[in-house]
This record gives sequence, structure tokens and C-alpha cells, in this order.
Amino acid sequence: MRPRPTARPRPRSDPLGARGDARDAADVDVVVVGGGAAGLMAAIQAARRGRRVVLLEKNPRPGLKIRISGGGRCNLTTTREGRDLEAQYGTRRGRWLRHALRSFPPKALRAFFEAAGVPLREEDLEKLFPVSQRAQDVVDALLRLLADSGAELRCEAALRELGHDGGGFRCRTGAGSLRAAAVVLATGGLSFPKTGATGDGYAWCRAFGHTIAPTFPALAPLRVEAPWVRALQGIVLHGVEIACRDARGRATLRRRRPILFTHKGLSGPAPMDLAGDVEELCGAASVGFDFLPDVPREQLEQDWLAAARAHGTRRVESLLPAALPERVRHALLALAEIDRSTTLAGLAKPARRRLLAAVKDLRVPVAKSLGYQAAEVTRGGVALDEVDARTMQSKLQPGLFLCGELLDIDGPIGGFNFQAAFATGRLAGLHA
Ligand SMILES: Cc1cc2nc3c(=O)[nH]c(=O)nc-3n(C[C@H](O)[C@H](O)[C@H](O)COP(=O)(O)OP(=O)(O)OC[C@H]3O[C@@H](n4cnc5c(N)ncnc54)[C@H](O)[C@@H]3O)c2cc1C
Repeated sequence: MRPRPTARPRPRSDPLGARGDARDAADVDVVVVGGGAAGLMAAIQAARRGRRVVLLEKNPRPGLKIRISGGGRCNLTTTREGRDLEAQYGTRRGRWLRHALRSFPPKALRAFFEAAGVPLREEDLEKLFPVSQRAQDVVDALLRLLADSGAELRCEAALRELGHDGGGFRCRTGAGSLRAAAVVLATGGLSFPKTGATGDGYAWCRAFGHTIAPTFPALAPLRVEAPWVRALQGIVLHGVEIACRDARGRATLRRRRPILFTHKGLSGPAPMDLAGDVEELCGAASVGFDFLPDVPREQLEQDWLAAARAHGTRRVESLLPAALPERVRHALLALAEIDRSTTLAGLAKPARRRLLAAVKDLRVPVAKSLGYQAAEVTRGGVALDEVDARTMQSKLQPGLFLCGELLDIDGPIGGFNFQAAFATGRLAGLHA
């Protein structure tokens, strides 16, 4: 590890000339608030540019969410790229993120960590994890880079008050006050509050005039009351599609990824991806199951009629996909009110239609997820049109930079949230 330099060269030019006076009056050039993915990256980049940087973290150690991410393995990013990558955040948010993602795409993030001694490898669903399978290695690498950059890390130093008085920003922490020419807020959202993310940044952003898009828990297991769902606890389904549907039955999001039945409802990648939409629908959502997504309903009915003509004495259960666990097949028959002893020849049209509906579009009301305590990310946050997408600088308060989950950005499971946090944190650090 390089020794920390004692004197830091002043930057040759200040791209925001108006901040020159503020810098002269400040204790430091940049205060970064929040030592998560976005804040660590911002602090490293700003300090590498010669800025005097102080990183404030309220916890005894930074990077807590990184440490517990991906089941302790940290799904750092994805192999998806270009338009496909942008689309994962939705059309409007993806377009806003374009500059950040193009200037620091997953390949660059991978190279950044590999150069820092954390080689990555690809796993299912285009996810990239450290080869070591240790999220701690990611935190350790970031802390090494932070120390090498010369930024000063202050832990157990929660920012309590933030103000601006023309001469720069006043930052009051539990351990004293600081003046800074620029401030990067990287305080995260509201998800997993035990990691330190308690939404502190929203109030300061509001005070500077920012709009906070309504916040919802996202990427959380779904709470489902339907007894048949709870009765299937422990089962994992692959190749089944689920969709979040609004009150009019329109699908807002479809997912064909693993589904886990639990004692509280549904978990695993597909249900967790739906949670943000379910929460936004405020009690009006249902989740629809398609147990045979590759076979259109009309085709399936024709296949069943042909099977009944050819094998009339077989049990009706033989119509259901053999890949489905027996308990699920039995649940579908029960939901369609069909006795298991029914033969194909004995399956009357109304019962056949009920079974078709159960297989192709079984709906279950879902009012809520398990909430912020269990949510991996927060949907909503600082309105994107109030932040410069090329620099992450607030359009309302010069010198204030916003990045990471604090912004109105969230992506599905698969490394997209770290990708967005690192890419926006990097831009903030390059311009603060
Ligand atoms: C259990 C879990 C697993 C996850 N797994 C993955 C995954 O595998 N892949 C993926 O892409 N995403 C994953 N995520 C999401 C990802 O962790 C977040 O999107 C990402 O960490 C957001 O980074 P951030 O820096 O914006 O915010 P955070 O990581 O939340 O960091 C904010 C930091 O600010 C600090 N802070 C807050 N207020 C103050 C204050 N007033 N003063 C000083 N410091 C303050 C907090 O203590 C915290 O350290 C997971 C999330 C969780 C909860």
C-alpha cells in the first residue's frame, strides 16, 4: 500500500469556476457522505484528481451493504451491455443513466476490480461475482484504493446537518463540523436500514429544493396470503413465468426466473423483481402464473383434446408438465376443482377450461412485499431531471452532487444496482 501523501496538489483548473472562492474558504474540497458503493467510488475518483476529500460514514466500518450482498458473495455487475443494459432500469431511467453506463460500463467495472486484485467470473443470469466468492474482498479492494487515493475516511461520523451559505457547504457531524467546497451525497435509500441506509439524504435534497419521487421497497420477497402458495413452501420452480398485474389485469412486468415458495409467500429472483411494481400499485396488484409459458393457451387445449382422444383412460394429472413438482401439480388440480382420479375421457369442458386457466393464468392477489427490512433496493428517490446526467451535479444547488441509490433509479436482480451505484458515484467523483 502506498503511503498516504501529506500534501495534495491543487487541481490546475476548476471546471466549476464559481466554486473557486468556496474552495479557498473550505477545510476540504469535497465531503462525500456515505461509504457505500457509490460514495467509496466517488471519494476514490475525486481524491485521485487531487481533491482534498473527506468521506463521512455513519457506521463503524464502510461498505456494510456490499459485505452482505449477493448472499455474502456480491454480485458486482452483469455481462449485459449497451441498450439491453440500459433497458433493465426502464426506458426513462435507462436513458438518463446512458452517459454513466457508457462511460463506465460493466466491462470497465470488471477491469477496475480485476486491476485491484478482485478477479470476477460469470454465473447464471449473466451475473458477475468475485472468483473468491467473498464480498469482503470487494470491500477490502475499495478500502485499499481509497487509502491509496489519499482520501480521508471518517467512520462513526454521521452527517447531522448540511447547509450552504455562499462560501460553501457546512457539514455538521457528531464528531465536529467541516466546510467543503463541494458535497457528494451518497447516503443510499431506505432499504435494509440496519446497514445504515435510513434515507438521511432525502431531507437535505428536499431542503435544496429537490423533488423526491415517492419511495417504495423493491427487490423484496412478496407477502402472499393465499393458502395454496404457503402450502407449497420449500418448492423452487424453474421455467415458470410470473407477471405483476394491475387492477385491470394488465401486466406491468413479466419474469421467467427461479421462484421460491416460502412460509410468507414468494421469494427468489422472479418474485423479488416484481416487488417494486407490486408496491407501487398500492394494494391493487395480483401476480399471475404461467406454468407453461412456451405453449399458447389454444395450442395447449388442442394438445389436451388430442391426448384425451388417444389416451382416454389416463389420469388428468398426465396433462400437467412433468417438470412441475408433484405438490404443484396436485395444487393446480385442486385449484381447478378437479378430482385427481378423473380420467382424460372424463374431463368435461368446464373442468378443462378451469385447468387451462390454472396452468396458463393463475392469479393470486399480492398487496405487499416484506418491506424495507427485506428489500435489496429502494424504488424512487431524487428526481432525475433535477440532476445533470453527465456530472451528477444538482441542477438546483451548484457544488452538490448526488449518486447511487439516493437517486430515482433501481434495477432488477443481477448486479444492476451496484453497476448504477458505481457508475454514478464515479461521475460524481470525477466532477466534484
Ligand atoms: C441484502 C442485500 C443484497 C444485495 N445484493 C446485491 C447484489 O448482489 N448486487 C447488486 O447489484 N446489488 C445488490 N444490492 C443492492 C446494493 O447493495 C445497493 O443498490 C447499493 O449498495 C447502493 O449503494 P449506495 O452507495 O448508493 O448506498 P448504500 O450502499 O446504502 O450506502 C449508503 C451509505 O451511506 C451511509 N450513510 C447514510 N446516512 C448517512 C449519514 N447521515 N452520514 C454518514 N453516512 C451515512 C450508510 O451507512 C451507508 O454506508 C443488495 C442490497 C441488499 C440490502
